Parts: sequence; structure tokens; C-alpha cells
Amino acid sequence: MQRLQATLDRIDRRGYGAYKDLQGVYDLGSFSLFIDRVQRDPFAPPSLLRVRMKDNRFGPALFESPVRRVALEDFLTRAAEEAIRKVVRGHRGSDGSGRVEIQRPSQVVLPRSSVVVAPEHIEARMAVRLPARGRTVDARAARTVLLEELPEVVRRALASGGVDVDLARLHVETVEDADHLRRHLPSLGLVAFVADGSVLPRESGASDRPLREAAVPFEGPEELRVSVELPNRGEVFGMGIPEGVTLVAGGGFHGKSTLLSALSWGVYDHVAGDGRELVVARPDAVKIRAEDGRSVAGVDISAMIGDLPGGMSTADFSTPNASGSTSQAANIAEALEVGTSLLLVDEDTSATNFMIRDERMRELVHNEPISPFIDLVRPLHRSLGVSTVVVVGGVGDYLDVADRVVLMEDYEPSDATPRAREVVQKFPPRAPLGKGQVCQPSGRRVRATSIDLRRGRREIARARGLRTIELGRERVDLSSLEQLVETGQTETMARAIRRFAAASESRGVKEVVEEALAFISERGLDSLGNFKGHPGELSLPRAQEVAAAINRVRSLEARPEAG
Ligand code: ADP
Ligand code: MG
Repeated sequence: MQRLQATLDRIDRRGYGAYKDLQGVYDLGSFSLFIDRVQRDPFAPPSLLRVRMKDNRFGPALFESPVRRVALEDFLTRAAEEAIRKVVRGHRGSDGSGRVEIQRPSQVVLPRSSVVVAPEHIEARMAVRLPARGRTVDARAARTVLLEELPEVVRRALASGGVDVDLARLHVETVEDADHLRRHLPSLGLVAFVADGSVLPRESGASDRPLREAAVPFEGPEELRVSVELPNRGEVFGMGIPEGVTLVAGGGFHGKSTLLSALSWGVYDHVAGDGRELVVARPDAVKIRAEDGRSVAGVDISAMIGDLPGGMSTADFSTPNASGSTSQAANIAEALEVGTSLLLVDEDTSATNFMIRDERMRELVHNEPISPFIDLVRPLHRSLGVSTVVVVGGVGDYLDVADRVVLMEDYEPSDATPRAREVVQKFPPRAPLGKGQVCQPSGRRVRATSIDLRRGRREIARARGLRTIELGRERVDLSSLEQLVETGQTETMARAIRRFAAASESRGVKEVVEEALAFISERGLDSLGNFKGHPGELSLPRAQEVAAAINRVRSLEARPEAG
């Protein structure tokens, strides 16, 4: 503490660069402060530091399994964020600096680099905007931030005496229950589960927090009711969505898309109080949508689309500018390539001609290469074991191919399967198009050298917000990846792509993605750090999103694997 104070005294009023002298490790009593990286000037990205408690006094039960440890780390990250908000004044120096930050978690619980819980210590990674007076060191303000505010944040958020241990336990148990439920979906023959009482709607299109007023809690229909025994909560009831083809039907504005979105986020665990704590889906579920304008590199979409004008092959399909239907087909083929057992499709975000082709259009247009999705959903399940949940308001033909129909009315689901069967009887049977079976699309090899990280003399691979990755001079657009939840995931993906690009070899997409995630799971997110110490703000992405990011690099060169 004295050494930190002495250094601050010595550099007071000197040029801002003198802050560099702070770099190092300090003993601040109950914790060590690591000042890993000091910003060069007041406007540069903030300085990075870590605080490490000298012990870990939380009961081992709170972090005994990997799931519990991740949940506790998530809890402590949120606790630190709240403590910072309450304790740190910010707005110091002449430029409003003095702010302290920790990685901002979304509503889901993910492995992150922000807090590390180890048996003997707890470490939190933060960033500080070191206070300036003009372009000089403001040591007095820095002293307040580092030696008064920061220790208070640590006391409130990382010491077992300051943290609400009951809340921490609730958080950990909530996450453990969701994880348990998701793991048991296959043995229950389910692809998703929505507990009764869940709150699905969100505050707004821009906020992932629960809608507070007038939210109608979910109440599953009797016919689809399933009960499951959870390790902490005990028995819960809810709607089980079985394997196969499930249709979510209903009028406009009755909660269909809201249900599907909740399922698509059910691949993640949610924080207690979110409303979707017990809404889970298979961890590899992929929301599929049309994404016209995206680039596609060497994807085998032949299962969905026959030969295109000009004899363009669809077994090795590349374009800088896909149409609605070809982009949706590519999204499905790529999801199958990296691996999925559940496709989630919403009519709202689909290409109509990909979803269906009616009798009249068949009469008029003979030369149509697309096998509509309606004729693929059953073969997808039969041949590849891939289930589908489709939201449909307008296209009744889907009733023909559904194993069951969930009807949404005033946000209330009912089982409309028997009625749907009656309706189907009233109309002449629809002749299916396509081959009646779907093959696994061929995997692709991608050329690492087609990803060029150079920009001028630097190499760039980083997230720019949640939905953009900068690679060299290219900006990869991820705005259609609805299951990407926080910027830390985007940053992790950027760094994983950088590792692959540096390898300069051709590899299978699935292999690249699996290798990247295996590397992280063995060595931790910290291993993606750019230097020793604070690794940056990283969260764990899924294989599906990592593949999707690689697939959207416009310069990507990929070819189907032979055979
Ligand atoms: P649909 O896809 O059937 O047209 P949406 O899912 O888009 O309908 O929902 C329409 C509106 O109703 C949205 O504003 C959504 O937030 C709201 N909403 C959905 N489910 C509920 C619910 N259970 N309680 C209250 N509002 C809801
Ligand atoms: Mg909708």
C-alpha cells in the first residue's frame, strides 16, 4: 500500500505517461492488486488491473462442480458491477475519468474471463480510467480510486463477508437446475422444455430483461405436460416439446415469436429472476433465418436447392450476395455441418419461397430448383435425427407435416394436434416436392490464408460491439446471429479466428471450431489473452456461433471435402 502511495506521490503532476510506473503488484491487505497494463494517455482504452483475494472463504459447495463454479463467477461479476455502481464516483480529474469497469454480463450465465474462482483465491479483472488533470497525472484522484473505492468494491463484492451468500446459493442452484434439465432432454425424448410460470416476453426489442407489467406467465397445455425432478427445485411441471416436427400456430401478435425466441435462448442458462430460468432447449439448437446479402463459401446446399441458372452447382455453392432462399438454405447446411439436433424457424424471418410453394405457383413455374422447407422437415428428422420447431401463422400446409401443433392464443398455448388432423382431412392431400430424404451436407475445408488480418502494418482481429468482428480491413457482419448474446463472445470468436488464420493451413470447418473450443476448455479463456495478466473481456461462445462467424467472412475460401 505504501509503495503504491509513494509511487503516486512521486508521479503527481508529471506527464500522463508517468502512470506507467504504476505497473506491478501491490499488497493491499486482504487482496493483491495487479496493475497489468497502463493506458498511454487519458483517451486511450482504460488501464487493466486484477484484484486477487488472498483466500477464498466461500463454502466449497458453491463452486464444487464446473457448472457451480461458472455460476458463482457469474454471480460475483454481477456483484462487482453493482458494487462499482454504488461505490465508484467516477467523474474525476479534468476529463471525467476515474471510472472503474468490469465486464458487463447479459441475462445469461456464461464462462467469462471477468472473475476466476479457485480453491485458494478469487480474482476479478477490471479496467480503470486513470484520472488526469489536463495531460498530467492526478495522483490524488488516483489514490481515491485505487486505495479507497477499489478496496470497498472488493470488500462488498468479493469477500464472503460482503456478499449475500444466500443470494449466491440461489443463483448457483438456479443455474444447476437449468443445466440438469437441459442435459436430461434427450432421455426424456424432448428437444425443449418450458416450465409453467415462466415469463417469456421481454421489456422491449432492445432489452433482454423480463417484461414486468402485464406479462402473462406461461402455462403449458395438459397434453404436453411433463414433470421433471430437479436437483434443487424438486419437481417442476411444464410443456415438453418432443423430438420431431412441432408447429407453433396462431394469429398475429399472440406470442408465437416470443415463444420461439425464448427457446432459441434456452441453449443458455439464465440468471435468477429472468423469467426464463427453466426454459431450456438442446444446447446445439440453431435459429435459422433468411439473410439475403450474406456471402457463402463452398456450401453444399444441394439437399435443399437443385441446380441454379447457368448450371451453377449447389453442391459447392459460393456467392458474395445470397438471396433470401439461398441464404436460408446455406444457414441450414452450415448448421448441419457443425452439428445440430434442433432447428428453430420463424415465418417472420424466413424467405417465403424457401418455406412453401403452393399449387398455383407449381402450375405456373416448372423450373424451380428449391425443395421447399415444408418437404424437408420430415426427412430431416427421419434421416438425420434433426427436429424442427416452426412458427407459422399463414401457411396451413404445414399442418400436413407436423407431428404436433401448439396453438398460441392470447399468449396461451394449447394442443391443437387433434383439430389440425381434422382440418387436414378436409383438404386433398398435398403432393410433396423433393426427394423425400435429406443427406448430411458435405463438410468443407477452409483456407486459413484466405482470412487476411493485415491492416496497414498491424494485424487486427477484434470485436466491435456484439455484432461485428473486424478482421484486417474486413468487417464481418453478425447481425443475423440471434443466439449471440454478449460482446465477450464476439471478442472470443475474433481471437479464435485469429489463431486459426495464423495457422495458415486448410482445415475442416467443424474441425477448426472444435479445436478452438477444445483449446479454450483445456486452457481456459485466459489463454486467449493478448499479454500476460488481464486477458480482456471474454465470454464463451458456442460452436454454432464460431462456425457462423467464420462462414460470414467475405474473403473466405472453402471447398467441399472430397468424398
Ligand atoms: P406473434 O409472433 O404471434 O405475432 P409476438 O411473439 O411477436 O407475436 O408477440 C407480440 C407481442 O406480445 C410482443 O410485444 C410481445 O412482447 C408480447 N407478448 C408475447 N408473449 C407475451 C406474454 N406471455 N405476456 C405478455 N405479452 C406478451
Ligand atoms: Mg411473430
